[in-house]
Amino acid sequence: MNQFLPHLSLLILVTVFTAVKPSGLTSSEATAAVSRFQEYLRIDTAQPSPDYAKAAAFITSQAESIGLESQTLELVAGKPLVLLKWPGKQSSLPSLLLNSHTDVVPFETDKWAHHPFSAAIDSSGRIYARGSQDMKCVGMQYLEAIRLLKKTGFSPDRDIYITFVPDEEIGGHAGVEAFVKSEIFKKLNIGLVLDEGLASPGPEYRLFYGERSPWWTVIRSKGAPGHGAKLYDGSAMENLLKSIEAIKRFRTAQFDLVKAGVKAEGDVVSINFVYLKAGTPTPTGFVMNLQPSEAEVGLDIRVPPSADPEALERRLAEEWAPSSRNLTYEFKQKVPVVDIYGKPAVTVADSSNPWWSLLGEAVKKAGGKLGKPEIFPASTDARYFRELGIPAFGFSPMANTPILLHDHNEFLSKDEYLKGIEIYESIIKELTSYHGSTIDEESKAEL
Ligand SMILES: [Zn+2]
Repeated sequence: MNQFLPHLSLLILVTVFTAVKPSGLTSSEATAAVSRFQEYLRIDTAQPSPDYAKAAAFITSQAESIGLESQTLELVAGKPLVLLKWPGKQSSLPSLLLNSHTDVVPFETDKWAHHPFSAAIDSSGRIYARGSQDMKCVGMQYLEAIRLLKKTGFSPDRDIYITFVPDEEIGGHAGVEAFVKSEIFKKLNIGLVLDEGLASPGPEYRLFYGERSPWWTVIRSKGAPGHGAKLYDGSAMENLLKSIEAIKRFRTAQFDLVKAGVKAEGDVVSINFVYLKAGTPTPTGFVMNLQPSEAEVGLDIRVPPSADPEALERRLAEEWAPSSRNLTYEFKQKVPVVDIYGKPAVTVADSSNPWWSLLGEAVKKAGGKLGKPEIFPASTDARYFRELGIPAFGFSPMANTPILLHDHNEFLSKDEYLKGIEIYESIIKELTSYHGSTIDEESKAEL
């Protein structure tokens, strides 16, 4: 009889531990949090015609149930930006801004195992939906973390703002770009922004402290037209192909650095050919015995903050589009690599920045680990904050998860989602209770 007693008490103990998770999320709270996440995922906010009104109404109702102040700004008509506030005890301290975008990218329904707006959960606990990684998860995790913190009686020292912004997926012009120019933004006195990152297939979370700047470039070539049978120098196609060969060599050299593990993807200049345009069209195709007088190529170039932008532009002017070969170039978009103070638009990611140390500490306290800080290979809204010299980190707590942002069958597992809530609980506690001076306060004092 006796020998069974320890087993029985163990059983009781196990029951207690599964009912209450370390964060204080009971299983019924976890279930409710997941179903609120599903509700948000089911709102069709896919570009090019997102239902922003529905998303804004949902966020506002969530804010009400948590007890947060909320206002909906329409800086551009039809593009609501929801701004929530949890006032701190010392509003004079620089505030924390938790940002997420409400729009998602389009999808091809027939390539998905479950409809992208079904938010279906499979037997292994994966939640399938467009936006499950990018980035409705993060927006809801902010709110769920605050909901839990409020329940425990925690109140922040700093003000916390939470923004749900439109149009990130189409450049953020009507979203964060307009927001940072607004009078209301200037009054928020933001010390640190948290925005999106990427999933990590490994056990460590990824943290981004800067991003590559898009330089969308068109190179145009001119040359003497001529008979398709004639061999001669200086045709438009030949001029352009010489450029393409030079660009390809540069691309290969940069890519080799990544393949060899010498540099991370975000630390090299990436160049991809996005279109080629040439030829003399006919109703059924192209004239085949004529060498055209014009040709052009479109390039998506991404420049890391560590690159020398002047040297790169010189290369473009002298090697890739020299006027001596009848070539010209034009930037369709050229985001500066530096901030408004002329410094590289990056957030310091070492122990000289207390925000960085606090963030790492908070993640550790919640049982997670941050990987080596990285440069985001593409663009996010965080660039608009960094351009103003405001520290911003890209962080989406998704470890052990394949990177499926913008891909078919985007999913996030229930467990990773819930773990992320605990991570943000810890982050909010750590960052909003800190009273020391931060790097932004020091640099503001210098100015
Ligand atoms: Zn995103």
